Amino acid sequence: MTSEMDVERLTDWLWCLRTPIVQAYAVRQGEGFNLIDTSTPGNERAILEALGGGVTIHDIVLTHGHDDHIGSAAKLVEHTRARVLAPAGEVGFIQGEEAMPPPQFLEWEKPLFERVNPNVPKAPPVHVDVALEEGAMLDWDRPAVVVSAPGHTPGSTALLFEEEKVLVAGDAIASHEGEPMLGVFNSDPPLAVQSFRRLAELDVEVACFGHGDPVRSDARAKLARVAAQHSRSDESVEQP
Ligand SMILES: [Zn+2]
Repeated sequence: MTSEMDVERLTDWLWCLRTPIVQAYAVRQGEGFNLIDTSTPGNERAILEALGGGVTIHDIVLTHGHDDHIGSAAKLVEHTRARVLAPAGEVGFIQGEEAMPPPQFLEWEKPLFERVNPNVPKAPPVHVDVALEEGAMLDWDRPAVVVSAPGHTPGSTALLFEEEKVLVAGDAIASHEGEPMLGVFNSDPPLAVQSFRRLAELDVEVACFGHGDPVRSDARAKLARVAAQHSRSDESVEQP
């Protein structure tokens, strides 16, 4: 199965790989790439073609163990021998050794989940070569710092490109009509809110997510506005 893969070059080094369901990201590394997430299962060829075909994939970072993020990782490793890095708290889920805790749905999320979930096939497990801890530094052409953002899943993690002021947040954050919002379908919603607040304190200009368009400018201020709404009352935050 191959779905359409739309490529958007957010910068000369960061590309967004979009299907109708989810976004993964490619980060330039020499003549090749590193990947952040791998879309739904069956997209390995679409991803490689989108990057130019025959390219080297050095590292694949999985932000968390959901099927729409780890989906094509196992096949990509087969094709490219890439190294897989993932948050220590997600390794058991990603390797298929532990069951992912289910989302604690807010009422408005239930119909959305019922609409989206049947379109996400189950991902094959993939071996994780490197377990990532908070603060770990990825020694890429553009170095990235591992920032823990649990709550969406127990070990959800974001990557911060400090120098470039770019955050790739996995599903800890999403966006709707250009505005950031708390990611949906969280296993621990209060913890997800705490993580959102932490991420909103980072000095970032651009923020990228698994779901919803990237915020291309002034991301810190936009995230801070949403974080402040959550501070007033977690229940009052409007749904998209
Ligand atoms: Zn997710």
